[in-house]
Amino acid sequence: TPAPAANFIKNIVEADLAAGKHAQRRWAGQPGLAATHAAAPLDAAKIRTRFPPEPNGYLHFGHAKSILLNFGLAREFGGRCHMRFDDTNPEKEEQEYVDSILDAVRWLGCSWESEGENNLYYASNYFDWMVQFAEHLIATGHAYVDSQSAEEMRANRGTLTQPGKDSPFRNRSVAENMDLFKRMQAGEFADGQHILRAKIDMAAANINLRDPAIYRIRHATHHNTGDKWCVYPMYTFAHPIEDALECITHSICTLEFEDQRPFYDWLLERLAEGGLLQRPLPQQIEFSRLNLTYVVLSKRKLIQLVDEKHVDGWDDPRLPTLVGARRRGYSPEGFRLFAERIGVSKHDSLIDYVVFEDAMREVMNEADERRVAVLDPLKLIIDNYPEGQFEDCHAPNHPLKPELGQRTMPFGRELWIEGEDFQEVPEKGFRRLFPGNKARLKYGYIVECTGCDKDENGKVIAVHCTYLPDTKSGTPGADSVKVKGNLHWVSAAHACPAEIRLYDRLFSVAAPGGRREGDAPELERNFLDDINPDSRKVITAMLEPSLKDVQPEQRFQFERHGYFVADRVDSRPGAPVFNRAVTLKDSWGK
Ligand code: ATP
Ligand code: MG
Ligand code: MG
Repeated sequence: TPAPAANFIKNIVEADLAAGKHAQRRWAGQPGLAATHAAAPLDAAKIRTRFPPEPNGYLHFGHAKSILLNFGLAREFGGRCHMRFDDTNPEKEEQEYVDSILDAVRWLGCSWESEGENNLYYASNYFDWMVQFAEHLIATGHAYVDSQSAEEMRANRGTLTQPGKDSPFRNRSVAENMDLFKRMQAGEFADGQHILRAKIDMAAANINLRDPAIYRIRHATHHNTGDKWCVYPMYTFAHPIEDALECITHSICTLEFEDQRPFYDWLLERLAEGGLLQRPLPQQIEFSRLNLTYVVLSKRKLIQLVDEKHVDGWDDPRLPTLVGARRRGYSPEGFRLFAERIGVSKHDSLIDYVVFEDAMREVMNEADERRVAVLDPLKLIIDNYPEGQFEDCHAPNHPLKPELGQRTMPFGRELWIEGEDFQEVPEKGFRRLFPGNKARLKYGYIVECTGCDKDENGKVIAVHCTYLPDTKSGTPGADSVKVKGNLHWVSAAHACPAEIRLYDRLFSVAAPGGRREGDAPELERNFLDDINPDSRKVITAMLEPSLKDVQPEQRFQFERHGYFVADRVDSRPGAPVFNRAVTLKDSWGK
């Protein structure tokens, strides 16, 4: 693993630690919090970060950046990272998403359990606290129940250049506000009839401070709290409270929340000055989200791809979801290397997909054992090799790691080679098999091509050659004959036929749905029109016999072809199915 690089967030953390900022905390947790959840005593001097997805979909590559950043900071500085479901929105959340998110975070190598702490939290477990805090705001004159319609509220919010207008309900008494909010909780009103708003400033330059809504009525069943509540907090109210209750020190989010930070701070200040939260309060820090070429990272678009069946479900290996990545054979270490490489900053940027693939290749080249697979099988017949006779050849499992040992590959008279390794009439520079030319069968012998057989359409169906008995790899005579071509092969009698899926990019343009040069001003492109029609090819390959019994998710470099994983859904020992994660070199567009 590379040494973690510096970034502006680490600088903030280091400065806070040096200043002892969080060591000022006088007691563990927040007042009374132990009563609502099981957090072990906090070590006040340590940082706490969190990863707070809403369980309303599957995680994608962008989330991986956030996961690795938050869990990585905690690991690097000996702190904690909380896994928290931001499940304050009853309509869209499901247990299926909760499970898949936990799986994905674990798969990336991140853990919310350490030293006896299980830092897995649900925002919905804080609803009692949130209501109590909302009532505190009412009691202190910092919140009021508004009864305008949604349209009136929108119209009165103002614009970037126009201040908003005070609601006619803004000056309700504390007693009236409290009574209405209690009755909202009791279920006396319909959805949308009233809403609780913070009372800040309808003329604030930052629109987010123009009396933002904090609690709304929703008669809906929640996946965790069932029908206990018919009022639910707004995200912008809930999130700072979740952070504070968990004693998060650094609350890291993407740049689009920058404008929300003043409200985040305003809210926590009001609660701290009322003695409901202890200082130091969490600090929100924004960084730029991951944008990648050739993929879409918006939940809405991913849902559309799945629902309209442009792909085969959330774990389709072509999707930039983490379940898709896992099935594709991408490695968690590759994600980590990628995250280190792209770093963390406040500048929006678009990362080339090649950077992602290169990180994967680098990790897999180091980690993966080598095997041989013939993807486009063509029969090679060694006419001077005895029929029915076989011998062992030896191939290293990893050229850079002799400690990984070697395996035997049976060699015999009939082999499978790649169709592209034979040319009857060789093009310029071609060094492999053509009549009269010699080449090496890697880990085996040098052979001299003598000709080929064709079917009635002129298609080559078998290649003939003779072998040079003194040239076996690893024997003293191996180098006595010099050849330029080197090819891989599998014994026809021992080969294991297997389905292999070759994946390519799901989109054929770097910015799916984006405008292109020369587009008419009124033209609106649809990202679905940019789907690459050839993003998946299914073939039957011939594998070396040792691959027959691989376990699902085992990954290998197939020599000359790239990195392949045994499919975690369809592959089973005895009947392997492989997915190509990535080619050996960047072959895109060539
Ligand atoms: P939505 O806005 O539809 O809820 P989301 O992608 O923001 O989708 P969340 O579940 O709210 O989903 O995100 C969890 C965390 O992941 C947040 O902290 C968010 O900032 C972060 N995150 C989401 N997308 C990216 C991205 N492209 N790059 C980096 N971090 C991201
Ligand atoms: Mg979100
Ligand atoms: Mg979002």
